[in-house]
Amino acid sequence: MLSEAQRSAPLTLTEHLDSARREAIARGMVWFWLLNWLVVLFLSIRYEVYSQVGLASDDSLPWRFQSELALVMVVLLLLPVVSLFCDHLQDRLWLRMAALVMVLWGGLWTLHIYTIGQVELRGGVSYANGIMRLNLLAALIAFYPDRKVFYGYLLGPMTVGVGLELFLRVDFPQIYLLGVLFGVIALEVGRRMLHRWFELAIMREHENLTLLRQLDQLAKQDSLTGVANRRHFNIELDRALVHSQESGAPLSLILIDVDYFKRFNDHYGHQVGDMCLKEVAQALNRAVRTPSDLVARYGGEEFVLLLPNTGRQAAASVAQRLQDGLASLQLEHLASDVAPWVTVSQGIACSVSGEGVSQLLERADQALYRAKESGRNQFCVSE
Ligand code: GH3
Ligand code: MG
Ligand code: MG
Repeated sequence: MLSEAQRSAPLTLTEHLDSARREAIARGMVWFWLLNWLVVLFLSIRYEVYSQVGLASDDSLPWRFQSELALVMVVLLLLPVVSLFCDHLQDRLWLRMAALVMVLWGGLWTLHIYTIGQVELRGGVSYANGIMRLNLLAALIAFYPDRKVFYGYLLGPMTVGVGLELFLRVDFPQIYLLGVLFGVIALEVGRRMLHRWFELAIMREHENLTLLRQLDQLAKQDSLTGVANRRHFNIELDRALVHSQESGAPLSLILIDVDYFKRFNDHYGHQVGDMCLKEVAQALNRAVRTPSDLVARYGGEEFVLLLPNTGRQAAASVAQRLQDGLASLQLEHLASDVAPWVTVSQGIACSVSGEGVSQLLERADQALYRAKESGRNQFCVSE
């Protein structure tokens, strides 16, 4: 039996990858968010200590270092709220939103890094570079599963990195640009390597899941007719009966037996007999209406219909539909005594409170027996 998580897992590999990416990015974001808090808290403490001994000053900035730190904190506080709003989004849209958030997040840190560079009196620029490198490596670990999200974060630092070279005077601009370029290459190579492992893991998981689903399907199916098998029917009947007794909703059962099927086999051969059983199974599928109705092969030339939320009257109309359906299908059965086409006899039982599975089946069987006794090609309802 498949678990609930396996049952609700995406059907296609693309959907599976999207959902796994979303999950991985969501986890990565939480870690990255906590890391950002640590960095911000450390920077605040460091600034306070340095200011008190007169080693830090933000006179060169158009804003105060603390107000900018407060801005980063407010944005960090707002992020969980944004994530709550995006929770209901479908995976692909969620990932696009995440990429957009990362553009803003990366932009904010670029501004903040610039601020750090301006403020610290003791090697502020190299300190800022260190923080930026830590952020970029952390972003690689947190966001490698999705290229857009990762480069969303990188957009701000990269633009400013290249922009600095174009618009500001930097010593040895070519060397500076080479540094930026090599940095991006190193990050991209690392991202690809990690991403390949990620994709491989999800592909394997998807293959296993597909295999499990196929096995699950096979374990539930009757190999000849394609409808549910007896094993699956038993499980569903137990479940439906419990539900019916808890909720008080009616539950009906129809036992169906093909009339004179031994004669059919003797007359047309076993293979045609098999084809006939498939046709009858199809007719049964057409006779039921709601997806919760279950068509199963009970054994040999006997079938059973499990009809949740169905009372006696509605079950009788399903039985009538089946009888009419077979009459219009006109599967030739010249050896039958009731009609020149394949017919069935049916026994209907509607569950009563406190009744067990075997009692319900027993009543349906008795009703079927009465239908046989009364001349076949008809249905009887158990009282
Ligand atoms: P009644 O009208 O009383 O139900 O008579 P019947 O001949 O249908 O009932 P009986 O139980 O005597 O025979 C059932 C036949 O169904 C015997 C068996 O060969 C045939 N049968 C059971 N399973 C299969 C199957 O998978 N394929 C085929 N072709 N025949 C099957
Ligand atoms: Mg039989
Ligand atoms: Mg029969």
